[in-house]
Amino acid sequence: MRKSLALALLLALSLNVTQAAEPLRVVTSFSILADMAKQVGGEQVDVTSLVAPNSDIHAFSPSPTQARSLGQADILIFNGLQLEGWLKRLIDASDYAGVRVTASDGITPLVSDGHASGASEDEHEDGHDHGHGEADPHAWLDVARAQQYVVNIREGLIEADPSNAARYRDNAERYLEQLEELDQDIRASMAAIPEAQRVVVTGHQAFGYFADAYHVRFLSPAGLSTAAAPSAADMARLIDVIRDNQVPALFLENNANPGIIEQLAEETGLPIAGTLYSGALASDGEASTYVGMMRHNATLLSKGLTTNAD
Ligand SMILES: [Zn+2]
Repeated sequence: MRKSLALALLLALSLNVTQAAEPLRVVTSFSILADMAKQVGGEQVDVTSLVAPNSDIHAFSPSPTQARSLGQADILIFNGLQLEGWLKRLIDASDYAGVRVTASDGITPLVSDGHASGASEDEHEDGHDHGHGEADPHAWLDVARAQQYVVNIREGLIEADPSNAARYRDNAERYLEQLEELDQDIRASMAAIPEAQRVVVTGHQAFGYFADAYHVRFLSPAGLSTAAAPSAADMARLIDVIRDNQVPALFLENNANPGIIEQLAEETGLPIAGTLYSGALASDGEASTYVGMMRHNATLLSKGLTTNAD
């Protein structure tokens, strides 16, 4: 009797050890969500991102290997708001049956007309073009909305792995505090830029939420996705807007083709102040985490918009 109880205990113990050593397999659609999942999951998770750092999530097509590895995952975290147009087919192809987390669940989305922001400025001011727009998917660029992402990721990890719920709660709490501080720091550094100079030109319309949260104007010749190239008329209209405003500098995006911005630099004579991170992390260095990428963006914007202004 005593002996079999001891054996049962030993068995139970070794089972526990096996469980702890086996990390939760997390797949995220892109690198920013992968970092958030690592921050909340800590050592309990093994995270894979479908879209690699520095790669464009708008122009992605998953490989058969990725479909197979998704099939073995425990939890899938994606943005939602129609960012991942390829996801449904991938889920079907992989027979994925684990937990699904829509990171943007519960946020208030911004609705855009999907056209170039420079060209539709007047319509926006008249307020006539609301209602038939599409939701802007880039919600992580407002840190307050990103905090909701973290809450959703925490809940998903707890659902997939309830035995480590306390750890996920602790990690998320610490991370949310960091994000709170990040939000305040960005707010302060953007407010320090004279308002007339807070005009940023980027390749595609990725920064709507950043603009909304931190009161910076963003202009771009292309729409919400990098998939549609701007027309010559879009480019000409944007050049007019740039000339009518005191735009101090142009910015590249790490995950978009630099050609549009290079062409604008040539035609307007404006300097290119550096590279902003919008839809992907860097593979190493400062911008290889979400917090680091947002700090990099804020620092680059304050430098680019103040030192280049007349
Ligand atoms: Zn984008």
